[in-house]
Amino acid sequence: MMDFKGLEKQYEFDVYPKRDLVLVRGRNARVWDDQGREYIDCVAGHGVANVGHCNEKVVAAIEKQARQLISCSGIFYNDARALILQKLVSIAPRSLQRAFLCNSGSESIEAAIKFARFTTKRKDFICAMRGFHGRTMGAMSATFNPEYRKDFEPIVHGFHYVPFNHFGKLKETVNDDTAGVIVEIVQGEGGVHIGNGEYFADVRKLCDERGILLIIDEVQTGFCRTGKMFACNHFDLEPDIMCLAKAIAGGLPMGAVLCSDKVQIPFGKHGSTFGGNPLACAAAIAAIDYMLENRLDEQAKDKGDYFVGKLKEHEFANVREVRNLGLMIGIELKEKSTPYILKLIEKGVLAMPAGATVLRLLPPLTIGKEELDFVVEKLVEVLAANDG
Ligand SMILES: *Cc1c(COP(=O)(O)O)cnc(C)c1O
Repeated sequence: MMDFKGLEKQYEFDVYPKRDLVLVRGRNARVWDDQGREYIDCVAGHGVANVGHCNEKVVAAIEKQARQLISCSGIFYNDARALILQKLVSIAPRSLQRAFLCNSGSESIEAAIKFARFTTKRKDFICAMRGFHGRTMGAMSATFNPEYRKDFEPIVHGFHYVPFNHFGKLKETVNDDTAGVIVEIVQGEGGVHIGNGEYFADVRKLCDERGILLIIDEVQTGFCRTGKMFACNHFDLEPDIMCLAKAIAGGLPMGAVLCSDKVQIPFGKHGSTFGGNPLACAAAIAAIDYMLENRLDEQAKDKGDYFVGKLKEHEFANVREVRNLGLMIGIELKEKSTPYILKLIEKGVLAMPAGATVLRLLPPLTIGKEELDFVVEKLVEVLAANDG
């Protein structure tokens, strides 16, 4: 057999904490490695495969579109693009009426930063501690963890970080040059920390009073992950800008920035070669239709509650807290999570960290009850093994 690991080690920059397996095939919540071993996949491409790996509807849409038209510049109209734009606006909070299509989460944040500076003619942004928004210069500048930023200075000027869920500190930091507040509803990379409805209502009100744009990063929380189509639906929160990516197109790379009518960006001020390409648009239409037809929002809520309920039947000396909103699940340990993640792989479960001590699970929302039971069983085994 080809040495795929060796080839990646030789030719790819070593930027990821690689797990020792080569994944070659996926189906719904399961993936297989090149040895034929099967895993329940609670990584799901980092929260991408909400509709399951190789979802039939998405595969069929990609196949059909690939024979019809794969690329189409934004200077021409396109059928698949028109339909996904309409669909995105139809499922988004009412305030959001227009979209810009791009190719990733970071790109959606970059666009939001530009749109907010252009619209408000102001420069500053307020972001949350533990927040994560991506790796490109602007998105990285909005990201709190200094480890991500420190070797790449100067970062984009004008970003301030305040404690999450703490309105007082945010209010103190606002000034006449604040263009936008950028915040996640549930902090994903930062450790699965859930925002508070009162906090968001206060932030919304302050933004309205001060002419600041409220930018919600739903890159990880969007598309039914938390038990609603978008996590801001839990709080009836109406953002001015909502950033989307990860699960939007059933696994294909795509991002979107949805904007209220306050937001302006005129002709010639932004663009993307691949943004809104018909292949990603067709996949996104199929993925979103699948979510709506199968009520993946309700499934995520029920399955998340079921899973956490089962897990909480057990007591673990080394678990500090279990947090979830739908199937966005974080198990905060009293020690580093990576050794547990490696043991889970041996037992056929893929999971990922969120910070040093949180074990995070983002399974496909189509995962079966028995598969959830299997994951709980394996978690209990690895967590109990280290008790005492
Ligand atoms: C993953 C993520 C991003 C970055 O998305 P990329 O597609 O990796 O650029 C931004 N924000 C949040 C909340 C994310 O989870």
